[in-house]
Amino acid sequence: MPSPTDRAVSAAPPESGGAAVRDETVWYAIPAEEALNRLDSAREGLSDEEARARLERHGPNEIETERTTPWWAIALRQFQDPLIYILMVAAVVTLLLDHPIDAAVIAVVLVLNAVIGFIQEYRAREAMSALREMSAPKAEVVRQGRAREIESRELVPGDIVLVASGARVPADLRLVDARELEAEEAALTGESHPVRKTIDLVEGEHLVPGDQRNMLFGGTIITRGRGRALVVRTGDRTEVGKIASTMREMVAVETPLQRQVHTLGRRIGAVILGLSVVVVAIGLWRGMPIDEILVATVALAVATLPEGLPVVLTVTLAIGVRRMARRKAIIRSLPAVETLGSTTVIGSDKTGTLTRNEMMVRAIWAGGRRYEVSGSGYSLDGEISVDGAPASPETDDALRETLLAGALANEAEPTVPEQAPRGDPTEVALHVAAAKGGIDPAEARARHRERDLIPFESERRMMATLVDGDGGRRLYIKGAPEAVLERSDRQLGADGSEEPLDADAIRDAAHTLAGEGLRVLAMATRPMDAERIDDSDLESGLVLVGLQGMEDPVRPEAVEAVGAAHRAGIRVLMLTGDHVDTARAIGRQLGLGGDRQEAIEGQALQQLGDDELDSRLAEVDIFARVAPEHKLRIVNRLKAGGEIVAVTGDGVNDAPALRSAHIGVAMGKSGTDVAREASDMVLADDNFATITAAVEEGRVVFANVRKVTFFLLSTGVAMPITIITALVLGWPLPFVAAQILWINVATNGLQDVALAFEPGEPGQLDRPPRPAREGIVTLRLLERLGLVGLLLATGTLAMFWWTLERTGDLVIAQSAALTQMVVFQFFHVFNCRSLDRSIFGIPPFANRFLFLSLVLAWLAHLAVLHIGFLQTVFRTVPLSARQWGEIVLVGSLVIVGGEIDKWWNRRRHRGIG
Ligand code: ADP
Ligand code: MG
Repeated sequence: MPSPTDRAVSAAPPESGGAAVRDETVWYAIPAEEALNRLDSAREGLSDEEARARLERHGPNEIETERTTPWWAIALRQFQDPLIYILMVAAVVTLLLDHPIDAAVIAVVLVLNAVIGFIQEYRAREAMSALREMSAPKAEVVRQGRAREIESRELVPGDIVLVASGARVPADLRLVDARELEAEEAALTGESHPVRKTIDLVEGEHLVPGDQRNMLFGGTIITRGRGRALVVRTGDRTEVGKIASTMREMVAVETPLQRQVHTLGRRIGAVILGLSVVVVAIGLWRGMPIDEILVATVALAVATLPEGLPVVLTVTLAIGVRRMARRKAIIRSLPAVETLGSTTVIGSDKTGTLTRNEMMVRAIWAGGRRYEVSGSGYSLDGEISVDGAPASPETDDALRETLLAGALANEAEPTVPEQAPRGDPTEVALHVAAAKGGIDPAEARARHRERDLIPFESERRMMATLVDGDGGRRLYIKGAPEAVLERSDRQLGADGSEEPLDADAIRDAAHTLAGEGLRVLAMATRPMDAERIDDSDLESGLVLVGLQGMEDPVRPEAVEAVGAAHRAGIRVLMLTGDHVDTARAIGRQLGLGGDRQEAIEGQALQQLGDDELDSRLAEVDIFARVAPEHKLRIVNRLKAGGEIVAVTGDGVNDAPALRSAHIGVAMGKSGTDVAREASDMVLADDNFATITAAVEEGRVVFANVRKVTFFLLSTGVAMPITIITALVLGWPLPFVAAQILWINVATNGLQDVALAFEPGEPGQLDRPPRPAREGIVTLRLLERLGLVGLLLATGTLAMFWWTLERTGDLVIAQSAALTQMVVFQFFHVFNCRSLDRSIFGIPPFANRFLFLSLVLAWLAHLAVLHIGFLQTVFRTVPLSARQWGEIVLVGSLVIVGGEIDKWWNRRRHRGIG
């Protein structure tokens, strides 16, 4: 009976030239070396040319997982709105009443609305897919012998990739190296418990993916450890690629604002129906012909409907997404755009977000003495000194051993590139420190062959390596001082000999370093015989060698951003895995923690009951030694207290907290795939300041929605008042039906969309967050709508009456009234550019779309007054220069009114809008 290996060998011819390895190769059943040979690859990876050639041959490593909505479906969707249904009914009714021209005008409104909506939604979709491109999955690949990051789609069979906890596996891989590796393969197997992965051969035929323990499958998640693996299948040939059911429709989630707008639309629809009944009743009472009443009523309903609102909202959200992207905040879920604006608490990581994550060892503690290290960044220029004199690591055993341990218990590449260091900055800093002390880390690593390694995971706060060196086989560990201390029972003295552990002295030293804001790591070692490191080997018996304290400068933008957040009524909490004292010192530089610099550690927090925790959460800003489960609890308690919470996270285990928070924020540069996928927003630059920038844009989005609503509803209020008043007074109607419809087009057709482009007003961050429950339409907005409605109606009626009196010509009077309403709205749109600032303080041309839309609307209106066939359609005549003068004069009253209203409002110190 052939062994699985034979079968595998016979199944696939060795790849030579252009022939692709056939899919039947049973990769799990052949040794890693064999697999490398099969694919003509090596541990050092492919060359660039080879990779390029293979990409040509195999195609990109992509799976079609999203079905995009076809354009016609987007077009159809534009008609799926209650407001639009009313419009359609209106068109049919006017047609039945034998008013084809009015029906045509309504149809134009419908089409115009749909076209704008379609264009905007199409553009929004393009923008979203461009954003997705920006956050396309990346993979760490080894090519030409060097590790580097590339887009996952460029992977080819034969590539060597490096994976680490938190990564999403980019393709189907055969492991070549595995350290403490575990993967969660629920995407394929449905089993959510992580499985252990090793490089050992697996026997058996037709194994399901779950049993192929030396393989990693595209789409699954690394939950722990590190691995180096060979890409064996890419794109559609991967296991997930074969599962067609992963195809999913891109669902358009409705955001809270969109929901609100829909409710608002329905309410307005109901009000309009009620009004229509009133208008018909009054018309009948006044003895108007029934079909004239009906047509006028339908036109009025159409003019009153804010049918543009849903479209404008989509536009506003899309603009918000784009503006945020420009400020390096990439939105992954649309509701986040508006929720950001009402954020009340931001919980932020320290390292890399509030600080730069550019580590440099500043101080070393070894053999009971403190050493200072000079220099900056990752530059190798710098000296180690003790008591003001240069230290000499050749003769100073304690110092030398500390530096050496730091370089050996280290996962970063030992080459010390002066620019763009690869790997964890904490570890690169230790290499740099060693180099400053005359120990070449690359050379040291070459002299100490690594046998095994336990990678660093935040939960354990330490890592270990097993190396063969001059002094035999040794275990080196480095990690948080507490973690290392509890495993040590001796320490290295100044002369390099072992002495009993003075835990207090070491704790004191660590405390002092941390108090200076330094991130402190302790190094320890011991001889060891085994081939591999077991967890039990790490438990005890270590000799503590020394401490290294590294500086991580606070980002200057973060200091400003924290200040801005505070001014904006947003609390900032620091949630760090680092030591309390380090956290406090950094907090002080950022203006966190108040005068008392109170801080809580994760452990202590765990002991607190919910009530106690809530009261602590109300006063403490700094949380140290925080594990992911603590973060989750903090988020949940804050939410329970009614806060709107944004929280950052980068590790695998941060995903629950990111999902639970209103806004989960992940890091674009340093974070893991898992964290990114669980997030609502990704910071392209990992910078805290980007969060406050996004909050600011979120507030602008909401403000703009409110402005547009104010604008659209103003006509909606003014028109019925005008018509009903005329009816009640027994006047002829100031507009014919077609004119009412025209007002709708000329005043709202484009300006509302243009208003959505309004740049943010300054001072967005100078006021408290909007209460999450506060709707778009507040009492204050209603009050304003009433005032504007009255003003517009009075002005228009006055112009109508006055022209009628003077000329005795109804057609001229109606043209004047029509133009009056249109001009009112031209002016009023300027009022709407800010709900509380004087329009004279707003740069007039800052919104060029608005300007353009006004010019267009103006030209269109002139056409309606002057072009022959339009005159017939709309029953208009040209106006005299004098009439124009009067109309503009009256029209400008709305600005005067708006300014008085804003001034009065500012005096009353009431909130905005
Ligand atoms: P944060 O990112 O919030 O600063 P981490 O979870 O990264 O917190 O680190 C927590 C602690 O683990 C650090 O204070 C340090 O003591 C230790 N630590 C961090 N990085 C390493 C590493 N590469 N090797 C060993 N220990 C580390
Ligand atoms: Mg970290």
